[in-house]
Amino acid sequence: MSEFSVEFSRNLRGAGVVGAGGAGFPAYVKAQCKAEFALVNAAECEPLLKKDQKILAYFPEKVFDGLELLMRAVGASRGIIGIKKKHEKIIPRLEELARGRKNISVLKMGDYYPAGDEQCLVFEATGRVVPPGGIPLDVGCVVSNVETLYNAAFPGRPVTDTFITINGAVKKPATFRVPVGITWLEAVELCGGVTIKDPAYIDGGPMMGKVMTDFELPVVKASAGIIVLPKNHPLIVKKAQGRPTFTRIGRSACDQCSYCTELCPRYLLGHNVQPHRVMRTMLFSGGPEHKLHSQYGLLCCECSLCSLYSCPEGLNPREACVVAKGDLRELKVGFKNSPLNTGKAPQVHPVRDFRKVPVSKLVKKLGLEAYNKDAPWSDAVYKPARVKILMSQHIGAPCAATVKEGQKVEKGAVVGDLPVDKLGCPVHASIAGTVGKVNEKYVEIIA
Ligand code: SF4
Ligand code: SF4
Repeated sequence: MSEFSVEFSRNLRGAGVVGAGGAGFPAYVKAQCKAEFALVNAAECEPLLKKDQKILAYFPEKVFDGLELLMRAVGASRGIIGIKKKHEKIIPRLEELARGRKNISVLKMGDYYPAGDEQCLVFEATGRVVPPGGIPLDVGCVVSNVETLYNAAFPGRPVTDTFITINGAVKKPATFRVPVGITWLEAVELCGGVTIKDPAYIDGGPMMGKVMTDFELPVVKASAGIIVLPKNHPLIVKKAQGRPTFTRIGRSACDQCSYCTELCPRYLLGHNVQPHRVMRTMLFSGGPEHKLHSQYGLLCCECSLCSLYSCPEGLNPREACVVAKGDLRELKVGFKNSPLNTGKAPQVHPVRDFRKVPVSKLVKKLGLEAYNKDAPWSDAVYKPARVKILMSQHIGAPCAATVKEGQKVEKGAVVGDLPVDKLGCPVHASIAGTVGKVNEKYVEIIA
């Protein structure tokens, strides 16, 4: 690693920069790699979420700065920002900025789901297919989220705030920046509160987000936003289905039409994921047949397209894949030691382009047309009375608190850390104040 890469990745770790697109993979790890392409995932194909578009509209220079730093660290000869061409108000500014920077370009993508799946983005941007069970680095790419690069543009500055979108059944849908550690309820109140009697919340986008039941949970660095919907909305009902329910219905109603497989984005990239075969596991309770069919779910990226769009019977092949992977984990079977791992290069499906699912159709199918509104940028500054900084906010080992009850802390002070040889990042105070409760789960700070 060059001196610059060492310093850049040290800064990223110290500042607690993590992937801000969901799971929150620590950014310093990617900065220590060597890659030919640095890709910016600005596809944001989850309906109703708008935060990446707003960051690119209001702070594009910072995203470019972060990208340039990452390119230098990993030795990338090209930086590509993948954004949907429908964002025609933002793209001209991005293209203008790209012209003024070296080796950076803007890739205009179609409005389909899941264009933001990192393996789809890698293929669209480079023509390369990530090998089954592999990662983008295997084909010379690092993929970063928009907000991650925004944060990377401030070397060493602790991540204390996060960008979120609040959309759906709220008075004033909005996208804004909040201190990490406020509750989701507070975030919704900042948008004027809910407009329905019996609300349910999805943490993240409608496709991959989870239904939340505890609204006092704190916002974390990797949070993208929440969608508020009526509790009896079909999407909420479907997402809340438990294993006994989707197994019972799936066992009796799946006619093996295989639409779920034929539209699966990873299958179309040439990976051997076949959710219709995984559905057959519902006919067996364990044994070799169960194990065999479960393996066709090992390469599922859990995008939910099969469950929420493709299946004409409204079944839940995605959940079947999730439980199949869990069952195989217990049997210590992963893709690497599965007989499906033939070592052959994947062949992209010849009609892949014609099977891309337009987001407009998806929104209709999800019953979200009435909620599919803009969530305009708001630069209002929220000053909470208290925050809870979780010790485990993202992929990696949890932090241990480094402060004691009653201690005064400044905004940006480290309140939780972990040994440098463990995967993970420190967490920081998002407001100045006095430390309240401290336990292994969180540190409370009172303003
Ligand atoms: S699309 Fe639905 S009915 Fe058809 S095979 Fe898949 S799960 Fe079964
Ligand atoms: S959730 Fe369904 S469509 Fe998505 S990758 Fe998994 S099997 Fe394929």
